[in-house]
Amino acid sequence: MHEQKKTVAFIGLGAMGYPMAGHLLAAGFKVSGFDLSGEARSRFAANGGNASSEVSTALWNADFVITMLPNGKIVRDVLLKNENWRSLKKGCLAIDMSSSAPSDTQELAKELVAKDTRLIDAPVSGGTKRAISRSLTIMVGGESSDIDDSMPLLESMGTQIFRTGPIGSGHAMKAINNYVSGAGVVATLEGVLLAQKFGLEAEAVVEILNASSGKNNASDVKMKQFVLSGTFDSGFAAGLMAKDIRIAAELANSLDMRLSGLNATAAIWEAAAQELGPGSDHTLIAKYLENR
Ligand code: NAD
Repeated sequence: MHEQKKTVAFIGLGAMGYPMAGHLLAAGFKVSGFDLSGEARSRFAANGGNASSEVSTALWNADFVITMLPNGKIVRDVLLKNENWRSLKKGCLAIDMSSSAPSDTQELAKELVAKDTRLIDAPVSGGTKRAISRSLTIMVGGESSDIDDSMPLLESMGTQIFRTGPIGSGHAMKAINNYVSGAGVVATLEGVLLAQKFGLEAEAVVEILNASSGKNNASDVKMKQFVLSGTFDSGFAAGLMAKDIRIAAELANSLDMRLSGLNATAAIWEAAAQELGPGSDHTLIAKYLENR
């Protein structure tokens, strides 16, 4: 007898969620998807997914619920508001793959226990390119046995899967990663602006950085590809980057740490996202910095 296919409710079918949900379908899961955007739902349905027009329908009786949403407050709303939790199957495993605040995740885990639902946090790094190529890095926090249960799903979306510790630790790690990444973007762009003002060519500067100790993710996979090319289409919004670094700054505050580099980086991204518009591609911070 064939084993019954495991069902997954996938909520948030945007730049990252859409390719990730596609990999679950390809791996043989039965996936019900929901997104507020009708366009996102149609694209998912055209790819063979079962798109629901109500979140409660997508959640209904699923073995797993994956959320890939802008932030943890929205994740909470999706799972608990409007009695949505009534659709959750007893004992189901919710996997929040969004970049949420660890404190929100820890709170939500407690609320979900009371609804017989388990929660782990499994945020990702690698951007849309690695979401599409099934090679995301995934950092996972939660109970070991719950993480074990999630592995067949995570392994169909990512290649490097790290267990970070208790619930919320994946989200803490993700915010810290994006602080380091966002600081790298600012440092690289400011370095290029300074070099240009001195009379050096931007293309040459990036090439030399990449052959020197200044090499970083921004110099390596963002500068030529999205900034110097003028395309500014990395697929990651400035508002999301600002949110992630704010989460890292709030985490430092909650631990009584004064990190001046982190606070400065958070302030730059906050101002840039506000001026550019939160939905603008984060690489457009190049224009913001150029106009200072
Ligand atoms: P996105 O804006 O492309 O997708 C988010 C989707 O959520 C949208 O389609 C939106 O319509 C939907 N949505 C919003 N509120 C909703 C609700 N209440 N119910 C249902 N759907 C709702 O964003 P994204 O780039 O896919 O990012 C998703 C998450 O992944 C964010 O937390 C982000 O920080 C994180 N992330 C993004 C990247 C990237 O490169 N884009 C990389 C790593 C992590």
